[in-house]
Amino acid sequence: MTECVFCMIANGTIPATIVWEDEHVVAFRDLHPQAPVHVLIIPRRHYSGMEDEVPAEAHAALCAAAPAVARATGVAESGYRLIVNTGPDAGQTVAHLHVHLLGGAPMSEGMVTLA
Ligand code: AMP
Ligand code: ZN
Repeated sequence: MTECVFCMIANGTIPATIVWEDEHVVAFRDLHPQAPVHVLIIPRRHYSGMEDEVPAEAHAALCAAAPAVARATGVAESGYRLIVNTGPDAGQTVAHLHVHLLGGAPMSEGMVTLA
């Protein structure tokens, strides 16, 4: 997927502030942070989102990366929230599966904000 911005970050074609990576996953700072720590965790391989027949191994790699990313960004102790937006109602804007890791300040207890 050469036209996908997150594929281009994963393969180094466009720059990003990478905070953690392994052979399956890349984690980088969100361009428009919504919290003091806002990192996107993506699989190196392109999946458009949760509905794209993502194999269990790819889900596992993303979830396993989260605590490592939290440690790398200093929020493992203070806590963090993981969010995956999927499809139009969730406001997904980049069609490459990604997990938002948000932390660094207390967040509201609510899970859902309707538009
Ligand atoms: P979503 O709304 O879940 O699809 O989130 C997409 C996120 O990607 C947004 O928070 C954007 O700020 C972020 N984003 C888009 N392009 C870039 C980029 N080139 N580098 C870092 N973050 C990006
Ligand atoms: Zn992609």
